[in-house]
Amino acid sequence: MSKIKLLSPRLANQIAAGEVVERPASVIKEVLENSLDAGSDRLDIDIEDGGIKLMRVRDNGIGIDKDDLPLALSRHATSKIYQLDDLEAVATLGFRGEALASISSVARLTITSNTGGDSGWAARAEGRDMVAEVTPAAHPQGTTVEVRDLFFNTPARRKFLRTEKTEFNRIDDVVKRLALSRFDVSFNLRHNGRAIHSLRKATSQIEQERRVAQVCGPAFMENAVHIDVERSGLRLWGWVALPTFSRSQADLQHFYVNGRAIKDKLVTHAVRQAYQDVLFHGRHPAFVLYLDLDPSTVDVNVHPTKHEVRFRDNRMVHDFLFRSLHHALADVRPEDQLPGNT
Ligand code: ADP
Ligand code: MG
Repeated sequence: MSKIKLLSPRLANQIAAGEVVERPASVIKEVLENSLDAGSDRLDIDIEDGGIKLMRVRDNGIGIDKDDLPLALSRHATSKIYQLDDLEAVATLGFRGEALASISSVARLTITSNTGGDSGWAARAEGRDMVAEVTPAAHPQGTTVEVRDLFFNTPARRKFLRTEKTEFNRIDDVVKRLALSRFDVSFNLRHNGRAIHSLRKATSQIEQERRVAQVCGPAFMENAVHIDVERSGLRLWGWVALPTFSRSQADLQHFYVNGRAIKDKLVTHAVRQAYQDVLFHGRHPAFVLYLDLDPSTVDVNVHPTKHEVRFRDNRMVHDFLFRSLHHALADVRPEDQLPGNT
């Protein structure tokens, strides 16, 4: 008798969910990235009980067609790439087409959407393989994704959740990280009915610096210099804290490659090296930096959650980062700025 069997779609999704949906914050990340990919410029995020009870994200993006609603919830269904070549130049945040399917396999998921027509439509999935039905529902242009009772059907996973406060803080981190990458989008985050962030669109540099101060704390902004360097197709811009504002932990380091938050060895190394002779041993620099480059020279399809990237030309990117930062810090390198002197 044959021992090999195909996994049921539900089990396959739950296994995939083990990778993508670790905790409420990972759900929020996926849902917000979808909203951004849909061209939204306003995100309203409502959280209850650290996200374990409820996470609701409402956007004003392009919406999902009625007929696409069930598809949006299926595994490997995506509107973002249609052929392998598209992977080469992927500009959207998501593209694997497994987030919603994974979430729907471990939570009660409702999507309500309107693509600009008279009425909207809602699809519900409660840990089942398929959406049972699509029903009419009032909704303005855009999409609302509601995730209730995370891990209600996978108690073993639920056990690994921390306190409400810890889980909420991680959600907050995700929102902050995205808020720093999209100044052109307004973010409203509420927890148990209380407003946590109300970040308005920030167009001018002054408005952007206000947002950075709201997200990273006013002290960071007061001690940071603005940089903007462009060379041979690479642009590095953002804010780097003076060495005097160094931290005991690497907790205020935001680096974006083409708008995507990353943590990458090459980047970390280049930044460290630029700060090397101005920072005390064991201290960590603080920065909010953006590297923009031709999307075809960077591979972001490395891992869905690890935030790694692969540059086509490591050497050139490292060199550019190091030189740009070294130069920016050289301007503030006079004796009185050396750590320990203030
Ligand atoms: P991926 O983002 O990798 O394509 P997802 O499972 O996250 O996969 O989403 C599946 C599809 O559902 C997306 O490709 C998109 O077409 C649609 N979708 C999801 N969320 C939204 C949204 N907020 N607005 C518009 N379309 C959405
Ligand atoms: Mg997605």
